[in-house]
Amino acid sequence: MNDVCAHPPCSCQNSEGEEYCSEECANVITAPVGKCRCGHDGCEGYLKYRDPQT
Ligand SMILES: [Zn+2]
Ligand SMILES: [Zn+2]
Repeated sequence: MNDVCAHPPCSCQNSEGEEYCSEECANVITAPVGKCRCGHDGCEGYLKYRDPQT
């Protein structure tokens, strides 16, 4: 089974029965690929692209 969030840059596990880990990921599908806004600690997409000053 693949339980990873369907948002490409996101490395989080999705919720059971859901394609995405969070509403943030579900809603960002039309945005350019490259970052994740889910805010989860450990999310590669989020950590890689977040502002280091925040
Ligand atoms: Zn994420
Ligand atoms: Zn996600």
